[in-house]
This record gives sequence, C-alpha cells and structure tokens, in this order.
Amino acid sequence: MAHELTGRLVDAAVTTIRNHADELTGLDQAIGDGDHGINMKRGFDAIAEAAEIRTLPLGDALQKAGMTLVMKVGGASGPLFGSLLMAMGKAVVGDPTQGEQVQAMLTEGIAAVKKRGKSDVGEKTMLDVLVPVSEALAGKLSRHAPAAETMAGLRAAADAALERTKPMKATKGRASFLGDRSIGHLDPGARSSQLLIHAVCDAVAE
Ligand code: ADP
Ligand code: MG
Ligand code: MG
Repeated sequence: MAHELTGRLVDAAVTTIRNHADELTGLDQAIGDGDHGINMKRGFDAIAEAAEIRTLPLGDALQKAGMTLVMKVGGASGPLFGSLLMAMGKAVVGDPTQGEQVQAMLTEGIAAVKKRGKSDVGEKTMLDVLVPVSEALAGKLSRHAPAAETMAGLRAAADAALERTKPMKATKGRASFLGDRSIGHLDPGARSSQLLIHAVCDAVAE
C-alpha cells in the first residue's frame, strides 16, 4: 500500500514540475537568475530516473528523493527542497496517510528549510507557502475536518499564500539582491511549493 502511494506521489510531483518548468524559469527571470524551472526539472527528472524510489515505503522514498535533489541540483532550491524532503522522510514513524503524521512531517521539513536557508516566513521564499499550508493543516486537524475538506483547505491555503508573495520584498536568496524591485512578482520557489502541494493532494485523493 505504502509503495503504491509512493509511486503516485512521485508521478504527480514529477509531472507537475515538468509541465511548469518554463513558467518557473520565467518567474525566476523576473527576480532571480532564470534557472528555477531548469533546476527543479533536473532534480525531479533525476527522481523519476531513480526507479528504486517508487518501490520504497514513503519515509525511505522521501529521504532518497531529498538526497537526489541535493546531489543533482546546483541552485539554492536543490539543497532546500532536498532538506525539506529528507526531514519529512525521517519524520515518518507511523501511517503516513494519517493527518497527525503528515503534520509532524511538515513541521520537521519546514524546520530543516529554515535551518538550511537561515530564513523564516515573510522573506518571499518557499517558506511563505509551506508554513501557511502547515498551519492550515493544523487547523483542519484540530477541528477533525473530513479528508476532502482538509485537502480543499490545503489547496486554498497554498493558492492564497502564493499570491501573498507578490507584494513581499525578498530578503533571502538571489531575489534579495533586487531589494524593492523584487516587489510585485511571485516568488518562483513559492510557486513550485504550491504546485507540489496540489500534486500531493491529487495523488492522495486518487
Ligand atoms: P538559485 O537562486 O540558486 O538560482 P533557484 O532559482 O532554483 O536557485 O531557487 C530560487 C528559490 O529558492 C527562491 O524563489 C526561493 O523560494 C528559494 N530560496 C532561496 N533562498 C532561500 C532561503 N534562504 N530560504 C528559503 N528559500 C529560499
Ligand atoms: Mg535561480
Ligand atoms: Mg541559479
């Protein structure tokens, strides 16, 4: 069962990154060095090629996928998304389809990104999607919301959080070099995070 879930998650994540690679690169052309889609596609292509990952239970698969991103992606996003996935994988102890378990995984993953990036919310990065999504999940769990409502809430939280990166001024990563000129653009890594949240919801709902 767990392996089936892993396969669905890998397919959904790889597909969305491949389908949006040009858009992600375009976003990075506006406030970075124009390689975010290339970096993400390189990393997720490598995950797709590492056929073993699909056969592993979720915790091991996430750790392997995270290591693959760290090794294959040169940009900031490789080590950061890599740290996210590795920490999420290490946090798997019980049934990965259980809400509380997913919450613990996200909390650990976010802590790893903050540590590696020396960053926090409000700096116009991937964290500005990941943290609100984690908070939305905590809210749904505390109210014992049904799975479908929880998924819809996570998608909506990711979409709203992505839009909120537009008026932010970047204070971390390459976009911070632009200062005030980073204002008015979506953050590329926040867009990838939102795409990946949707992909996970799609895969879990299947
Ligand atoms: P690079 O900036 O090295 O070219 P990418 O373009 O692939 O790498 O990734 C840029 C994205 O990485 C940004 O849009 C942002 O979301 C994220 N990012 C950059 N620096 C940090 C950081 N210190 N903490 C969290 N996320 C960051
Ligand atoms: Mg870049
Ligand atoms: Mg770069």
